[in-house]
Amino acid sequence: MRAVARVNVAAIERNVARLREPLAPGTALCAVVKADGYGHGAVQAARAALAGGARWLAVVTAGEATALRRAGIDARLLVMGPLTDPELDEALDAGAEVVAWEPAGIERLLARGRPAAVHLKLDSGMGRLGQRDPDLARQLADRIAGAAHLRLSGLMTHFATADDRDDDFFDRQLERFATWVERVRADHPDVVVHAANSAAILRDPASHFDLVRPGVAIYGMDPFGVDPDDQRLEPALEWRSRLVSIKPCDPGDSVGYGRRFVADRATRIGNVPVGYADGVRRGLTGRGAEVLVRGRRVPFAGTVSMDSIGIDLGPLADGRSVEEIDDAVTVLGRDGEQRITAEELARLLDTINYEITCGIGPRVPRRYHRDGVPLGGVEDDPGL
Ligand SMILES: *Cc1c(COP(=O)(O)O)cnc(C)c1O
Repeated sequence: MRAVARVNVAAIERNVARLREPLAPGTALCAVVKADGYGHGAVQAARAALAGGARWLAVVTAGEATALRRAGIDARLLVMGPLTDPELDEALDAGAEVVAWEPAGIERLLARGRPAAVHLKLDSGMGRLGQRDPDLARQLADRIAGAAHLRLSGLMTHFATADDRDDDFFDRQLERFATWVERVRADHPDVVVHAANSAAILRDPASHFDLVRPGVAIYGMDPFGVDPDDQRLEPALEWRSRLVSIKPCDPGDSVGYGRRFVADRATRIGNVPVGYADGVRRGLTGRGAEVLVRGRRVPFAGTVSMDSIGIDLGPLADGRSVEEIDDAVTVLGRDGEQRITAEELARLLDTINYEITCGIGPRVPRRYHRDGVPLGGVEDDPGL
């Protein structure tokens, strides 16, 4: 294999259990497995999250809901995204609950003429989906609850700044939502109220309500973008490739498109068959990105290509093991004492950890294990 992304389902289970620690006994957890489980694989992530104590799952598209059902997953399922009429039918066929926020959406649901459990979304400040006007939102709750086929299942909102601990907009959103919920719940006592993403769960128990909706943290990434260790979260995914070429390089020799690496000393250049088509972003070129080889940090050399990267293995040094063809190269994960986190790559790219794992392409096969024991039998490339 050129490269593989190995996902430890036990890490996802433990992360979910960790996120449940601050929850009150009556508060349930809904694992967000949209975007193929943030690149980890939605079905395996969903199973692991349920094993770790999640009661609900959430996705964005109807197709994502169908895929979970086809895999035999029967947990309560929420489709959070906007849906066309055919997608609405697909989501309902999958037995998923759906979200509404405006009169037209509710009329469209009514026009389907079939039973649907509906979560009403208030836009408390995110400015994305959701009803801005709390009075209208309250009328919409009554309209859903009063409709023959519809059931008002939930009340929800989403935070814009939960990951920024210094920001007080979070508190304003929370207060807006809580005030609205109190009024609506007086008439509809059985609704499930939910708002908290990963950052909110860890930041403020007042945001937990009846159900929390973590995504990024269940995969062991830090919602605050610093270090998952700080929150006792465990990165579930390791991404490895291998050395396929090692060549001596003289001073003045260059590596890669545009000759952006020119050796200033005699060194050895390795080639690793994973590139921007696999999700090693080309923007990492010249930013000081590193991989791990034999437990040692090794810098990228030259422009990230579509199918490979160059790395500067350095001159042969006394007392260090000599790299060989087929040595494992860690793009994300641990090797000995060293580790490369999604947070580290995100920082180099001025982005967030979410984008790193979501960006791992379909050309990188996913393999699953439980603390090192392969799921479903044999390890097909144990060398990586
Ligand atoms: C993606 C998403 C979440 C999960 O957010 P994280 O920051 O990954 O925990 C929760 N709610 C909604 C509406 C989302 O779109």
